[in-house]
Amino acid sequence: MTDLFTRLISSSVAKKAGVPQPTRLRRYQPGVALCEGPVLVAGGGRFEGGLTDWLATLAIATQAQSDDSADRLGGVVIDLSAATDPTDLDQLRVIGAPAIKRLAKNGRLVVIGTDPATLTDLAEVSTQRALEGAVRSIAKELRAGATANLVLAQGDSSGGVRSAVEFFLSGRSAYVDGQVVRVGESTATNPDALRPLSGKVAVVTGAARGIGAEIATVLARDGATVVAVDIPSAGDALAEVANKIGGTALQVDVTAPDAGRRIVEHATGRHGSIDIVVHNAGITRDKLLVNMDESRWQSVIDVNLGSILRMSAAILADGGMADGGRIVCVASIAGIAGNRGQSNYGASKAGVIGLVGALSNELRERGITVNAVAPGFIETAMTARIPFTTREIGRRMNSLQQGGRPVDVAETIAWFAQPGSAAVTGQVLRICGQSLLGA
Ligand code: NAD
Repeated sequence: MTDLFTRLISSSVAKKAGVPQPTRLRRYQPGVALCEGPVLVAGGGRFEGGLTDWLATLAIATQAQSDDSADRLGGVVIDLSAATDPTDLDQLRVIGAPAIKRLAKNGRLVVIGTDPATLTDLAEVSTQRALEGAVRSIAKELRAGATANLVLAQGDSSGGVRSAVEFFLSGRSAYVDGQVVRVGESTATNPDALRPLSGKVAVVTGAARGIGAEIATVLARDGATVVAVDIPSAGDALAEVANKIGGTALQVDVTAPDAGRRIVEHATGRHGSIDIVVHNAGITRDKLLVNMDESRWQSVIDVNLGSILRMSAAILADGGMADGGRIVCVASIAGIAGNRGQSNYGASKAGVIGLVGALSNELRERGITVNAVAPGFIETAMTARIPFTTREIGRRMNSLQQGGRPVDVAETIAWFAQPGSAAVTGQVLRICGQSLLGA
């Protein structure tokens, strides 16, 4: 979708007048190289060797800090997981400064640290916590579609780190910038790199249009059999989505008391299991709190939060989701930063973030991961209804200077859903191009 403003500023007149152009972001294509150009791996942390070996298996050329080359870099991975003292932080500058100068358009900087929550030594904790401030700042300095993100390891095993580094280097993370992901211990990998969700059954709510339709499409592209769920009045569009991706359609209002039971019956009855659930259905009913009526308040809380609580109980009961399953919720940056006129919506999405934290702990033993995406400004029918000026501010005020696309949300969800992401749980990942709104 190209908006009017983008068409205006990308016109030949605007280009001649020197108006800055948002960079066309590099997005994931199955089978295309992980990144465009060699990857510099440095920093001396405990994952550096394993990552270099793994990149070699993908036929990605790697460079060491000492390599004297003028090649444009597709990515830079700085492993500071072993940094213990604030003086070690200078490595970010020593390695990062020359590398960033060589970074290609749409290049990637990925920094690896150790989760400060797993440490006790004061100097070590503060050193590792410092990485977050540095990476978020560097992300704001990068240009031409390049991003910077931080992976915090909670243990020594490389599986989780590798999965997160792969996501951040790839085009799947095109609109994820200045973010932090914590990864636990795991040796899980994807059995099939091109179709990582092969053999999995995924339920996607709100799948008739917008972000939900794109999530269904991307999960199917990655090999999943998809049950597309939406309200009966969206039945035609829902059937179209389901038919296009070879899935099945289920007309159900997620707020219905028996919605969870009907989803379980449909998915297990037709396809044999439920491996992935994406709670995407959501509504907005914006008003300042002083003008908010009961129905606006209650409907948003019930569709966006209450329904997820009720459906989870049914889906996680015996006969529902298999151990090793994946639950992904669609939250919003409004649930993190708040938004004027959205106290109901902000409450519902912050509630979802709370649910993800608590449920991920509860389900750890069953190997079920629970994560959320928090989209910023994504080009959909929902955001097309925002008044022009507010819409343009939301769309441009981020490090990538453009709105995201539904596919950007879908790709992150597809990554959370992968078998290889077993070590990623309890995370809320913002997909907002490092929006200036909120943290
Ligand atoms: P959308 O309005 O285009 O699509 C939402 C879908 O959910 C529709 O198909 C709708 O019929 C369905 N739905 C609504 N109520 C339902 C119910 N009770 N039962 C079943 N299905 C129901 O919205 P979108 O922009 O694609 O948003 C999808 C999700 O992303 C929502 O949770 C939204 O809050 C979130 N989100 C969107 C943005 C954005 O910029 N578009 C930003 C942050 C978060």
